[in-house]
Amino acid sequence: MIKINNLSEGTHHLEIEEKIDELELKEPFSGNYLVEVKLTKLHNRIILDIDLKTTAFFECDRCGVNYKSNLQNTFQMVYLFGDSPEESNSVNTVYLSSDIDKTKLNKELRDYAILSIPMKKLCSEDCKGLCFRCGKNLNDDSCDCKTQQVDLRWKPLVELKNKMDFN
Ligand SMILES: [Zn+2]
Ligand SMILES: [Zn+2]
Repeated sequence: MIKINNLSEGTHHLEIEEKIDELELKEPFSGNYLVEVKLTKLHNRIILDIDLKTTAFFECDRCGVNYKSNLQNTFQMVYLFGDSPEESNSVNTVYLSSDIDKTKLNKELRDYAILSIPMKKLCSEDCKGLCFRCGKNLNDDSCDCKTQQVDLRWKPLVELKNKMDFN
């Protein structure tokens, strides 16, 4: 909730920290969200530069471990005074009637929080993943499988060779 009445023209800085529940966001989000707003008030408009920080828990795509991730997204909102729809070429432009004194950004914050969820979820950029043979998490420790690895394409030949050697 950002109060916009009685603001002098110029730049203002606001910081809001609230529980993520306030945005009606559930998993994978958790804890609080933090919004830093640079509010610029001009005679006919208010511009909000918004920096949104959230915390979420994901399962790593490679190793399956649950990890905590700090997400961030930035966006801009422009509020124009008056009700002329002529300049409406941006989805983030909102027309304010002159009697409005505050704005709720919840819907936008929710949308941008969801947009900040990465497509690829990795506990770290260089996550080694799990051994495809023994299932060991290779971030913790290496396993012995590597030294015995046989290129699967050659496996039938290796087996054949072993058989022949025995005869
Ligand atoms: Zn991982
Ligand atoms: Zn292994």
